[in-house]
Amino acid sequence: MGSGLSARTYTPVSWDAGRGRTRLLAFAHGDGPGSKWASGLREGDTCQFFGPRRSLDLADLGAPVVLFGDETAFGLAAALRDNLQAGGALHMFEAADITESRQALEAVGLGEARLIARGVGDAHLAAVEAEMLRLAAGGAQFALTGKASSIQRISRALKAAGVASSRIKAKAYWAPGKTGLD
Ligand SMILES: Cc1cc2nc3c(=O)[nH]c(=O)nc-3n(C[C@H](O)[C@H](O)[C@H](O)COP(=O)(O)OP(=O)(O)OC[C@H]3O[C@@H](n4cnc5c(N)ncnc54)[C@H](O)[C@@H]3O)c2cc1C
Repeated sequence: MGSGLSARTYTPVSWDAGRGRTRLLAFAHGDGPGSKWASGLREGDTCQFFGPRRSLDLADLGAPVVLFGDETAFGLAAALRDNLQAGGALHMFEAADITESRQALEAVGLGEARLIARGVGDAHLAAVEAEMLRLAAGGAQFALTGKASSIQRISRALKAAGVASSRIKAKAYWAPGKTGLD
């Protein structure tokens, strides 16, 4: 996408090779090539893509599963809903705009997801951490995605509380100042 054909990574919400159909859910957060592409899409537009490729392997996560992420992980949550062996997951998302995020989540059938507003200096993460530790005590397994620094912080807190690494799967989707994480 963009004039130099930069690549950006998105999660297929569904992938139907037979019909040649896939669905993505993209967060237009700014004016990078991915955001511009998503904001400007019109019916009938074409684009180049390749994939899908292996990424987070969540197949062996057992219930209860907690998915933490942000706007970039709404698509993963929608994909997971239909694919988790052990039934549903509990979703917790940090987000810049709660009203807009709620609308997007409801549109993909994830109206029950918990949303927490990003705070100055990531102050909101203290509440997320506390909730994650509470869920960990109940035996939950964790998929952490989205902003790299949030994932690091929560992962560190879980491990410090004795949660085994095998109960945590993590994949950074973006980091301030970096482009095209994969
Ligand atoms: C495996 C994987 C799966 C992904 N799946 C999805 C998906 O399904 N949907 C989706 O929306 N995104 C997804 N992402 C994240 C997406 O690829 C990045 O957000 C990407 O940077 C967007 O490209 P851009 O051109 O808009 O911004 P870029 O040009 O890449 O970034 C410009 C700057 O914007 C900032 N930035 C980047 N992303 C964000 C953000 N989300 N919020 C705030 N600031 C940001 C950073 O400071 C960055 O330096 C995924 C990433 C990975 C690695």
